[in-house]
Amino acid sequence: MQMQETTAAPIHADVEEVLLTGDQIRNRVAELGRQLSTDYADRDPVLVSVLKGSIIFLADLIRAMEVPLSLDLMEVSSYGASTESSGQVRILKDLSKPIAGRHVIVVEDIIDTGLTLNYLLKYLADKNPASVRIVCLLDKPARRLAEIPIDYRGFTIEDRFVIGYGLDYDERYRNLPYIGVLRPSVYGTPPED
Ligand code: 5GP
Repeated sequence: MQMQETTAAPIHADVEEVLLTGDQIRNRVAELGRQLSTDYADRDPVLVSVLKGSIIFLADLIRAMEVPLSLDLMEVSSYGASTESSGQVRILKDLSKPIAGRHVIVVEDIIDTGLTLNYLLKYLADKNPASVRIVCLLDKPARRLAEIPIDYRGFTIEDRFVIGYGLDYDERYRNLPYIGVLRPSVYGTPPED
């Protein structure tokens, strides 16, 4: 069979540095899954995930959990083609079922300023769940503006714009199997601190 030549630039070329390898992520997600399975045995949790960046983390996390659970998905506006959070939160896709009386686990890819989650937590609390806890893969505390009680965290990272494992820049790079730092030349001027 003849191999087809790829003309498109490989996405790896825009990665300045690999911050977390696929193996590191896999091991940590397995630990989080075990921890959640212990803590949520007999609680039938509903995992509420925020599209789109969290989907790969969610998919791996639930397969590391061995308790009955259900899923729901929300989409809120955060970053567009910029690397800076606007602080503007808009619900683009709402929950599909009521969460009253349910044990909710919010599954987030990354918490930066915390503004998105701060809004979401208030929104969910109004719907009278039995409990709400947060699991995030990446915690970027340097620029936190809202205090967020993170119950389960994968990794704490420094203030750099990361891509891969679901995280995008302008909808690209979500399919990188690791988490990397985007080459600043891709987005022009570096984001302000
Ligand atoms: P926050 O409201 O906490 O500032 O931002 C949360 C959202 O911003 C995340 O769910 C993610 O979509 C986006 N975000 C924050 N930091 C980064 C980053 O380093 N890389 C990418 N790709 N998205 C980020």
